[in-house]
Amino acid sequence: MPKGKYWDKELETMPREHLEELQLRSLRDEIKFAYENAPYYRRTFDAAGVRPDDIKTLRDIERLPFIDKKTQRDTQGVGSFLGELAAAPEEDVVFVSTSSGSTGVPTMSPFTRADFDEWQNVESRLFWQAGMRPSDRYIHALNFSLYVGGPDVIGAQNLGALCIWGGTLPSERLIFILKTYQPTFIWTSPSYAWYLGETCRKSGVDPKTDLSIRKILVAGEMGGSIDATRNAIAELWGAEVYDFYGLSDIFGACAAHCEFHDGLHIAEDHILVETVDLRTGEVIAPGERGELVYTTLRKRARPIIRFRTGDIGYVTKEKCPCGRTLARIHVDGRKDDMFIVSAVNVYPSDIEYVIRGLSGVTGEYQIRITDRDFTNRYEVTIEKSGDSAESDAALAERASNALKARVGVKPAKVIVLPDGSIERSTHKAKRVIDERKSDYSI
Ligand SMILES: [Zn+2]
Repeated sequence: MPKGKYWDKELETMPREHLEELQLRSLRDEIKFAYENAPYYRRTFDAAGVRPDDIKTLRDIERLPFIDKKTQRDTQGVGSFLGELAAAPEEDVVFVSTSSGSTGVPTMSPFTRADFDEWQNVESRLFWQAGMRPSDRYIHALNFSLYVGGPDVIGAQNLGALCIWGGTLPSERLIFILKTYQPTFIWTSPSYAWYLGETCRKSGVDPKTDLSIRKILVAGEMGGSIDATRNAIAELWGAEVYDFYGLSDIFGACAAHCEFHDGLHIAEDHILVETVDLRTGEVIAPGERGELVYTTLRKRARPIIRFRTGDIGYVTKEKCPCGRTLARIHVDGRKDDMFIVSAVNVYPSDIEYVIRGLSGVTGEYQIRITDRDFTNRYEVTIEKSGDSAESDAALAERASNALKARVGVKPAKVIVLPDGSIERSTHKAKRVIDERKSDYSI
């Protein structure tokens, strides 16, 4: 068990050139393993004219084709239960998670025993990085059913924290547990962290003074990386908020904030990150904004090679003030959520940034996108705080100007409703309503 600031000091603070040597060794191994064991990779590498021995530098990976969610759907169950991307026989697989299927056919993510153990070691490292120690009490308030975030609690347990497997308890029951057991850490979604804090208050429990939560881990939505949202949750709870980021395709969490909250350190010993141009797929430099593409370096059940995540953001590789050299990802939103108004790329996360930073509102919002006369427009619905004396028209005008300043284009309309009008979410909030008739996918 480490005693200092880092879970694995050598790895986390390794000079970049050593880290990249380590990545190259693992990458060559992973590519060879995938080529020899996964029918899909053998076929597509052959078609691209690339043999595993051709991978001599990290950049040689650019010669390999991309995969995406569709590749996963098209190959799963083909040839065998685990499908053509799988590189291990079913008898070596001990766990599968499966996506919600909210955007199509659910995709299954298999793990061998070694994959699972390495995954939980990464979770321990990320929990440690967020400040969790064996003396902490941790309540894991994420769904356990099928969801890849569920098993992450084992990483906290292996770290030595006292773990409470909360799952998706009804709020009243969860608040009872928070009061009775006084845990110090909780992990949930940003929407639910907000909802739960508000619900505590309404039931006469002040999260700041009546509970012991000192750190809130959030994932599953953008909020944890939006300063105004993170600060609002922190203020409500009197706790520090850490953003975590995972993918069902790889690990429940692959990256997380350190105490500086400036990007999420990604487990580069397991994942090679590239950023590519949204349209052309060309690799772009660190610091430039594009689609994040991941390659697993050690995963055996189903190697993931050049997976286009649909997440838009950028990567920084400079050493962090925390001392870690592991790259940081900064995710701005999902490609699927981005829309274009008057030639401006609009990210719902930017709209959230504005609404959460506005005075006189509750912070709840909804975005509606329409395409009347072949022109995209967006409307934003917000809630006025109960104690605000400002007129609806004045508030709408103020919100509209703030949106124009941040997003670059004014909303067609800002609708102001009284406090409590927008339905509160207990899991992933559905904040964007897309009423467009045409297909604008890129
Ligand atoms: Zn850091």
